[in-house]
Amino acid sequence: MDVCVLGAGIVGLACAYELDRQGARVTVVDMATPGSGASAGNGAQLSYSYVQPLADGSIWGQLPKLLLSSDSPLKIRPQWDVAQWRWGLAFLQACNASASSRTTAKLLDLAALSRTGLDRMRAAHQPECDFSSTGKLVLYPNAKTFAAAQKQMELQRTLGSQQAALSAQESCDLEPALASYRQNIAGAIYTASECAVDCRKLCQALERILRARGVQFLLGNAVTTLETRQQRIVAARTDTHTIEASQFVLALGSESPRLARSVGVRLPVYPIKGYSITLDIAQVSAHTAPCVNVTDIASKVVFARIGSRLRVAGMAELVGHDRSLQPHAIESLQRSTRTLFPALNAGHAELPWTGLRPATPTGLPIVGVQAGGPQNLVVNAGHGALGLTLAFGTAQQVAQQLLQTPVP
Ligand SMILES: Cc1cc2nc3c(=O)[nH]c(=O)nc-3n(C[C@H](O)[C@H](O)[C@H](O)COP(=O)(O)OP(=O)(O)OC[C@H]3O[C@@H](n4cnc5c(N)ncnc54)[C@H](O)[C@@H]3O)c2cc1C
Repeated sequence: MDVCVLGAGIVGLACAYELDRQGARVTVVDMATPGSGASAGNGAQLSYSYVQPLADGSIWGQLPKLLLSSDSPLKIRPQWDVAQWRWGLAFLQACNASASSRTTAKLLDLAALSRTGLDRMRAAHQPECDFSSTGKLVLYPNAKTFAAAQKQMELQRTLGSQQAALSAQESCDLEPALASYRQNIAGAIYTASECAVDCRKLCQALERILRARGVQFLLGNAVTTLETRQQRIVAARTDTHTIEASQFVLALGSESPRLARSVGVRLPVYPIKGYSITLDIAQVSAHTAPCVNVTDIASKVVFARIGSRLRVAGMAELVGHDRSLQPHAIESLQRSTRTLFPALNAGHAELPWTGLRPATPTGLPIVGVQAGGPQNLVVNAGHGALGLTLAFGTAQQVAQQLLQTPVP
């Protein structure tokens, strides 16, 4: 079977890997180089057990502060864009406890499947991608948020996750670099099995692996048109190329809705903009930078060690497809870094970056042929804040749907 995968972010590449592994002939098309969209500078966390959806009942209580506070990690710039309003309403509808529990269960299943897929790929190819498995600490600033987290931990325990609630002191014993932040921690949830990886390096490694296996890449080519005949796509067109295939996978991240719309499919995927900085910590002394991955709930910032660098990521802005790098966001990440790890010099941010999370209102990715759309167009998009974590899970779902193989 000939499959054309549109998009060489982590979602498209993981999918190309699974399809090739299971015997399909694969071509990957991207307007840039592999791993240069949202997959380039993300938070690097493989968050297999901590999957709490953004759409959660607790958002209602936090909304006024999140919207009105000047240093809020959430920013909304209303657009003359019906997609933004539609997405916002659907998001608010999903903000209730039962929807959040259902989503959590589905995300945990998908994350477990994804872990299996990435582990299998790593075992087969040993890609150079700064993978680590040092666990993750999620820090809560007060008794109320910590109590809610323990409730979520309990739900996740019934679904198979193994986590522990730690005191501030226990958190600092586990991660001594947090010592001077101790008084800001009401408690933490620790997940020993969580991992981190440099997503861009993983994408680049996947490109090398796939090329060596004979997968074709057409890079630097934006897909402009999907040519359809009798409810099927016959070709994807760029300005200079026509790619024919029997099946097409749409994995263009936050750009997926545009092309989908051109063939009659409306995807509820909207960009949530985020930022990161990457610090070189090769020379810093022990207990200055964290070894364990850290998520600070107060600032909604994540810290992950990737090789000799520290990735700091956060912010959530609903500002359309604006990809401008805003100094206020970078300064906010630097401030958070100084607050949690004051011995680190975050004044000279290396590699400030911004990217668009392709988010659905519920937080669940969209996988499969869409009703009313072309029968040979499989959508694989909308992974939101968990695309790195879930990519190898949805890849197996796509392969299963296309090749009719059982999901392991
Ligand atoms: C600040 C931030 C922190 C994050 N942290 C984490 C984290 O810690 N853990 C986690 O699991 N996830 C995290 N995420 C989410 C994760 O990065 C995304 O979900 C994931 O990268 C989405 O992958 P993708 O392949 O769908 O999209 P992308 O990586 O954006 O790839 C889409 C590709 O499509 C290409 N493309 C677009 N339009 C066209 C076209 N017309 N023709 C050809 N090519 C096209 C682009 O060039 C791009 O290469 C984070 C995201 C952000 C922004």
